[in-house]
Amino acid sequence: MQVDLLQTPIEYLKGVGPKRAETLKKELNIFTYNDLLHYYPYRHIDKSKVHRINEVAPEEGQYVQFKGRVTHYELIGQQRAKRLVAQFSDGTGTIELVWFNSIKWIEDTLAERRDFIVFGRTSVFNRKISLTHPELLSPEVQSNSPLPLKFQPLYNTTDKAKKGGIDSKMISKIMLQMIPQITTVIQEHLSAEIIDNHHLISLKEALANIHYPESKEMLDKARLRLKFDELFFTQLKLLKGQLLTKQNTAGHIFSKVGDYFNTFYNKHLPFELTNAQKRVIKEIRADLGSGRQMNRLLQGDVGSGKTITALLVMLIAKDNDYQTCIMAPTEILAAQHYESISKLLEDMPVRVEFLSGSIKSAKRREIHEGLGNGAIDILIGTHALIEEDVKFKNLGLAVIDEQHRFGVEQRAKLWKKNKMPPHVLVMTATPIPRTLAMTVYGDLDVSVINELPKGRKPIITRHIYERNRLRLFGFMREQIKLGRQIFVVYPLIKESEKMDLLDLMAGYEAMSREFPLPEYAIGIVHGKMKAEEKDYEMQRFLKGETSILLSTTVIEVGINVPNATVMIVENAERFGLSQLHQLRGRVGRGGEQSYCLLMTKDNLSSDSRQRLNAMCATNDGFEIANFDLKLRGPGDIQGTQQSGMLDFKIADIIQDEKLVAYTRNLARDVLTEDPDLTLPKNRQLAAHLHEIMKEHPFWGRIS
Ligand code: ADP
Ligand code: MG
Repeated sequence: MQVDLLQTPIEYLKGVGPKRAETLKKELNIFTYNDLLHYYPYRHIDKSKVHRINEVAPEEGQYVQFKGRVTHYELIGQQRAKRLVAQFSDGTGTIELVWFNSIKWIEDTLAERRDFIVFGRTSVFNRKISLTHPELLSPEVQSNSPLPLKFQPLYNTTDKAKKGGIDSKMISKIMLQMIPQITTVIQEHLSAEIIDNHHLISLKEALANIHYPESKEMLDKARLRLKFDELFFTQLKLLKGQLLTKQNTAGHIFSKVGDYFNTFYNKHLPFELTNAQKRVIKEIRADLGSGRQMNRLLQGDVGSGKTITALLVMLIAKDNDYQTCIMAPTEILAAQHYESISKLLEDMPVRVEFLSGSIKSAKRREIHEGLGNGAIDILIGTHALIEEDVKFKNLGLAVIDEQHRFGVEQRAKLWKKNKMPPHVLVMTATPIPRTLAMTVYGDLDVSVINELPKGRKPIITRHIYERNRLRLFGFMREQIKLGRQIFVVYPLIKESEKMDLLDLMAGYEAMSREFPLPEYAIGIVHGKMKAEEKDYEMQRFLKGETSILLSTTVIEVGINVPNATVMIVENAERFGLSQLHQLRGRVGRGGEQSYCLLMTKDNLSSDSRQRLNAMCATNDGFEIANFDLKLRGPGDIQGTQQSGMLDFKIADIIQDEKLVAYTRNLARDVLTEDPDLTLPKNRQLAAHLHEIMKEHPFWGRIS
C-alpha cells in the first residue's frame, strides 16, 4: 500500500498532466513519484539571506535578494525593444528592475502593491546593478509557504525538456507539490544501528532536505546521508556479488604445470622475467587451480610485459589440454600479438591462428574446423572471436587485452563460449586507484605488474610550444640521421569528425615539405582508411621503410616498434593524461634513449600547463592516473563509461574517496556477520538490496 504511492505514475501529480509527463519520461527518465523524488538538484541558490544594496559589489552574475520598495517605474522603447524599468530601493541604495516580457502583468502587480522581496541575478551597467526578470515575492508569501523556501533548488534539464515546459523552475514546483504528500511513506532502509553509529539523518529527512533544505547544515547532512546510501549499497551489492560468484561459478581446474610451460620457460623465453611478472603468474596459477572461475584484472604500466605473462599462463592451459584465446581491440594490435606470439612459439608444437573480420571465408572455415576439433590451441584476434559461429572444443581461458575498448555485452558473449565459462584474464594499461578499480570492475580480482623490465632508459618528456617548431624539426632530423623512427600523433575526438582528419592532413603537408622524398619517407595512418591500407602503412613503418609515421590515435594501444624513439603529440593539450601516457609508451621499447615531445599552441591555460608539467615530471602511470583523476574526474577514464558503475546520482567516487573506502569496510563487516542478510536488524537492508538488484541485475558475472 505504502510502496504503491511512490510508484504512482508521474502524470497523476497535480500540475503535471499527460503532456509534461511525456516530456519527463522521455527527457529525464522520470516515470513515477519515486523517480522524481530521486531527481536531485545540482545546487541550491541561497535565499536565506537578504542583502543590502549598498553592500553588494557591482559585479555580474551574483544571486541576490533584496527587501524594499519600487519607487518609480516607466515603459521605455518601442515595440520589440519595449521594456518596463523600475527603480527599487531598500533604504541603502537603488537598483533597476527590468522586464521585457509579461509587462502588462507586472504593471498590474505594481498598481496593486510596491513592497517586495526581489530575487535575481545581477547585471551591471555603468557600475549600477540591475536585475532582469527578477522574482517578486510579497514578504508574507515566503513566511507562509508549506516548506521552507530559503534554498531554491536548481535542476538539470535538457533543451527538449525546456521546450516541453520542464525547466528547473517547473521541476521545483512539482517537487514542492509532491514532497508533502509522500514524506510519510518513505521507508528507512538502513538499520538503526548503522544510522546511530554513523550519525546519519533518516532517509525521509534526507530526501526532503536534499530538495528543500531547512538550513545549510541540513543540506550538508542530507547530501552525506544520500552519498552514504549510494556508496554503501553499491559496495554491498559488489561484495554480495563476489560472494555469489565465488560460491557458484565452478571453473576448469588446471591442475598441473607441464611440458609446454616448462619447455618454453627454460628453452625459449628470450629474457629473465621480472619479479612482478613471476608474482603475477603465481597469483593466476592459484586461481586456475582453485576450482572456481577466475575473473582477474591484470594491470601493468605500458611496456611492463603483460603479453608474455599472459602467454605463459596460456601454456599452462595447454598443459591441461585446454584451448585459449586473446582478444584485442584493433586489427593491428591483434595482428601484432599474433606475430610476436607465433614467433615466440616457433619451435613449440603449439598451433596459433589469427581471426579477424578481414579473414576470407575459406580460411575462416578452416579455423572454425580447427577450433571445433581442438587442433588449434591459441586463437588470437579482434572481436570477430566472439561471433556466434566461432565455437571452441574446450575453451579454458580467455585473455582480453586493453579491456577498456570492449563493452560489457561483448565480454558476456565470451563467457558463453563454453558450457563451463572460461577463466578470464583482463589486461589493462590504464592504472586506476584501487578503490576505483574495485568499483569499476565489479568483482574482478586485481593483479599488478608494478615493475618494468631491467635496462629500460626512462623516456625524456618535454613540452614544446608551437613557436619552437623549427627546433623540433631539427631534432627530428638528428634522430632520423641516427637511424631512428618517429611517431607523430594528432588528436582524434571521434573517428568521424572531419576536423581531426583535416588537422592530420595539414600536418602531413607541412611534414612533407620539411621532410621531402627521396631523402625521407613518411607514412600516414588514420581511422578512415581500410584495414588493409592501414596494415600496409603500419608494416612499412615496422620494417623501417618509413621513418616518420603520422597518425591519429589509432596508434595508441599496444603497438610495438622498438626502433621508434620519438613520440611527438600534436595539440597535446587536447588529450587526457592517461592517454598521453599510453602514447608515450609506444617509444622506449628498444635500448636507445627515447623522447616524448608534447606540442601545444603558444598560449595555454594554466590548467593545461600544469597537466603537461605533470607528464614531464614522471613516467609512472599510476601517479599520472591519480593526477588525472583529481583534475578531470573519473568520467574520462577509459572503460568507466561502459561499466555503468560510476553513474552515481550524488556521490563522486573521487571527491568522496574516503567515504568509498569507509562504506566498503562497513559493507564487508555487515556481510561477514550476516552473509545472507537474514538477521532481523538487517531486514530493511536486505529488502532494499533486493530492490536494487531487481532494477540493475548483476553485471559482475560478465566482466
Ligand atoms: P605491455 O605490458 O605494454 O603490453 P608488452 O607485453 O608489449 O608490454 O611488452 C613490452 C616489451 O617488453 C616487449 O617487447 C616484450 O618482449 C618485452 N619484455 C616483456 N617482459 C620482459 C622482461 N622480463 N625482460 C625484458 N623484456 C621484456
Ligand atoms: Mg600490450
